[in-house]
Amino acid sequence: MMRQCGMQITAGGYGMRTNQQTTLKAPVTLSGIGVHSGNPVEITLRPASANHGIAFLRTGISSGNDRLIKAHHACVSATELCTVIGDVESGAVATIEHLMSAFFGLGIDNALVEIDGPEMPILDGSALPFVNAIDAAGTTSCGAKRRWIKVLRTVRVQVERSFAELRPIDRGFRLDVEIDFESPVIGRSRKAMDLTPASYRREIAPARTFGMMRDVERYWKAGFAPGASLENTVAVGENAVVNPEGLRFADEFVRHKFLDAVGDLALAGLPIQGAYRSYCGGHRMNVAIIDALLADRANYAILEGAGTRREAAIAEFGTGLTLAAFAGDL
Ligand SMILES: [Zn+2]
Repeated sequence: MMRQCGMQITAGGYGMRTNQQTTLKAPVTLSGIGVHSGNPVEITLRPASANHGIAFLRTGISSGNDRLIKAHHACVSATELCTVIGDVESGAVATIEHLMSAFFGLGIDNALVEIDGPEMPILDGSALPFVNAIDAAGTTSCGAKRRWIKVLRTVRVQVERSFAELRPIDRGFRLDVEIDFESPVIGRSRKAMDLTPASYRREIAPARTFGMMRDVERYWKAGFAPGASLENTVAVGENAVVNPEGLRFADEFVRHKFLDAVGDLALAGLPIQGAYRSYCGGHRMNVAIIDALLADRANYAILEGAGTRREAAIAEFGTGLTLAAFAGDL
């Protein structure tokens, strides 16, 4: 059952770096196949105005009615194998997380994504092709101040040994992602980093999705993931990576989980000022931590600012907290 998507949204980077909302300078088109469907799909990323946020326009629906779906946590309908927004009957888009990660990582607040099928193209399994497309289109200011979510209180979700948490920090957006797989090829590893466009491009965007070879073979037999191949997935065998080219980073697996977390946290609808940490997390837990944060207005404030600490002109919406409470730490 899909949840209501009534909120005003914007999406984008990590608020404090620039004070203006951004969008693309020009449209850009990509095509490929969906990893879960194996079907060809074409997407066009288009510029959008201030406060539009990131939204998907799903075309090619049998009813003939195009459907606009906001990239917002309230519109998430599934998180099992990938993150899906919208609903199956009236039009959904699956596997949005890698494009959302590129938008969030590069600080793009506003864009419209036209897509003519139910699943995003997997391309090379990383966010790099999306970063390259956004770079080719160029970015520009929307002429409006950026807004962001400031975490005021620590929130945490836990399922058995897995957890995710968001806690307040003085500035920026920091992620700390840890994985712990039984596979000796993947093992336990951790990546912690402040998110900036430069760090995202260099250290996160190229990290590809991965799967255990035995699972991939099982999926194929069951008719799932027919689009998965060594062109778009790092296949992990019992003792080694199957792909002949090997890994792009020695710790590519945890970097991809970091990439996914950036894409899922983008579904908050605004850049975040806070510190995220997860252990054995995934799409479900990432969406759950955003749900938990935004469920209680005492957990966060939505700020609008002019950038530097001293010059910040901060508007505060709806929490009852005073301007003075934020004057020292922006
Ligand atoms: Zn992924």
